[in-house]
Amino acid sequence: MNIPLVDLKAQYLSLKKEIDEAVKKVINSSAFIMGEELKLFEEEFARFCGSKYTIGVASGTAALHLSLKALGVKVGDEVITTPQTFIATAEAISNCGAKPVFVDIDEKTYNIDPGKIEKAITKRTRAIIPVHLYGHPAAISKIMAMAKKYRLKVIEDCAQAHGAEYKGKKVGSFGDTGCFSFFPAKSLGGYGDGGMVTTNKVKLAKMIRLLRDHGRIDKYKSTVVGFGERLDNLQAAILRVKLRHLNKWINKRRQIVYLYNQFLSGPKIITPHEAKNVKTAYYVYTIRVKNRDRLREKLKSEGIATGIYYSIPLHLQPAYKFLSYRRDDFPITEKIAKSILSLPLYPELSKENVEKIAETVLKHV
Ligand SMILES: *Cc1c(COP(=O)(O)O)cnc(C)c1O
Repeated sequence: MNIPLVDLKAQYLSLKKEIDEAVKKVINSSAFIMGEELKLFEEEFARFCGSKYTIGVASGTAALHLSLKALGVKVGDEVITTPQTFIATAEAISNCGAKPVFVDIDEKTYNIDPGKIEKAITKRTRAIIPVHLYGHPAAISKIMAMAKKYRLKVIEDCAQAHGAEYKGKKVGSFGDTGCFSFFPAKSLGGYGDGGMVTTNKVKLAKMIRLLRDHGRIDKYKSTVVGFGERLDNLQAAILRVKLRHLNKWINKRRQIVYLYNQFLSGPKIITPHEAKNVKTAYYVYTIRVKNRDRLREKLKSEGIATGIYYSIPLHLQPAYKFLSYRRDDFPITEKIAKSILSLPLYPELSKENVEKIAETVLKHV
C-alpha cells in the first residue's frame, strides 16, 4: 500500500484542463497583482460564505494578522485563543505586540471551551480567536454572547473550515472577521500561499483592504502604514476553478468520514464527534487511540501516511516559553495531544482504500 495523507496531484489531474486554461489566461494578460481574477474570486467567495465583504490576502496568517491590526489590537493587549491550533493563530497575536492567552479545549469537539473563557478575561483583553479545528465549528453562539458582554472583538480562524456551518450559517460570517487559508493542503487550496478575510462590516473591510496593499489609495499615495500581503491573481484564478467544486468535495469528505466511522467506532477508538446544529466540513479525519505512536509506526510500515494536528500544544512550544505556561496548565489539550491521529482524507480517496486503511488500523490498535 502507498496511501498519502492528501493527494494534491489527483485533484489537479481531475481539473487539469480548467486549471491550465485559467493559469494561461492570467499569464497571457500579464496582470499578476490586483487583477480581475482576484476581484471575481473575492465576489464568488463572499457568495459562498454568506459574508458581505471579502479581502484576498497573502495567507491565512496574513488574514489573522491584518484582522487584528484593523481591529486596533496593539502592544499590551491580550487576545484569548486555544492552545490546540497551528502556531500561526498565536503568532498573529504576538506580531501585533499583544499577548496570546490560552484557554483549554472541549474534550469532544477539540475547540476552545466556551465555559472557560470568562475566567481568562482581564482588563486588557481585546479579542477572542476561536479556531474551527478540523472543520468542526467552535461554539460560536456562546462565544459571541461572551464577546458582547465584555465588548470584545471576535476573529474566527476558519483556516480549516471552508464551508462548515453552525445552525445553517457558514463559519466566517459570525465574528468581526473570518480568516481563511488557501495553503495547498487545505480543503480549498491554491498552488502556493493564499488567504481571505470575510466580514460584514464595511469600515473593517475598507481598513483591511488598505492594510494588505501598503495603505495605498492610489499608486503612490498611502493613508496608513500597511503591509504587502495581497493574494496574487494567479492563485485567485486557480482558486476560482476549485471553488466551483468545493461543495461537492465537502460532501465527499463527509461521506468518507461516515464510512471511516462505520468501520472504526468501538471501545478502542474515539471517532470524531459532530455537535448538534453543526455541519462539519472535515479538513482532517482525526481519531483518538491509547497507543498512538505505536499505531502510527505500524501504519507507516504498511504504507499508510498519518498526521498529528498538533502534537505540541502552543503553551508548551519552545517559541512560547516566555509566556511562562507550564505542563498541566491545560489538561484536556495535553491529554488529547497525546492520543490524536489523523488518517488520510481527501475527496479522491477511494472507498476501497478507506476500507483497507480501516482494516489496518483495526489490526494494530
Ligand atoms: C493553516 C492554518 C493557518 C495559517 O494559514 P497559512 O495560509 O498557512 O498562513 C492558521 N490557522 C490554522 C488553524 C491553520 O490550520
